[in-house]
Amino acid sequence: MIRENVKLILDELPPGVELVAAAKTRNSEELLEAITAGIKIIGENYIQEAKTAYQVIGNKVRWHFIGHLQKNKVKSAVSLFDMIETVDSVAIAREINKRCAEMGKVMPILVEINSGREPQKSGVVPEGAAQLIHEISTYPNLKITGLMTMGPRQGNPEDSRHYFIETRRLFNQIKGLNLANVEMRYLSMGMTNSYRIAIEEGANIVRIGTKIFGQRDYTQG
Ligand SMILES: *Cc1c(COP(=O)(O)O)cnc(C)c1O
Repeated sequence: MIRENVKLILDELPPGVELVAAAKTRNSEELLEAITAGIKIIGENYIQEAKTAYQVIGNKVRWHFIGHLQKNKVKSAVSLFDMIETVDSVAIAREINKRCAEMGKVMPILVEINSGREPQKSGVVPEGAAQLIHEISTYPNLKITGLMTMGPRQGNPEDSRHYFIETRRLFNQIKGLNLANVEMRYLSMGMTNSYRIAIEEGANIVRIGTKIFGQRDYTQG
């Protein structure tokens, strides 16, 4: 099943759109099956799960962190991941920069936008994005490469569209600022129920879990 699912999605994606397999709650066997079918990037929400999977899979794929990052996990995250998609504060950016400096690494990051402006959700509100990016663009061991958004989780995928449109606008606006050390290249939007709409609105990274691996046993993230 996993193999067929991956192939169907890959066939459908327009050129230039990258697929991240959202791996939360899946085991290494499931991930390996997806990789065999053509998955090149794994998205992890939890450091411990990522460590376990990395021990089996290693550098066969690229690893994106897509969960909520806590300061005390940054050191592990920086050593494991090729990209952190969920930077949403100066404090977390500063910590990533510090840990990367210790390791002699430059981390590509995306800034997570709370496009639904939901108080309990992570991400910076759209109004705060330019200021945040301006501030963290001076950190030498970070490379800002784009934006990520979840959008509110809703039944009807069409309801996500205007959150994607707004995030795309913000992406273009920040690109137009031509900030040093900022390369607005990736727009990570869309999940199982919304990735087609996200692509229509300019996403070039989609993060898909359920449609690859099936329904999760319990609701998370
Ligand atoms: C779980 C998750 C996804 C994938 O969600 P599905 O609906 O299973 O496709 C994408 N992005 C993030 C940040 C996630 O946590």
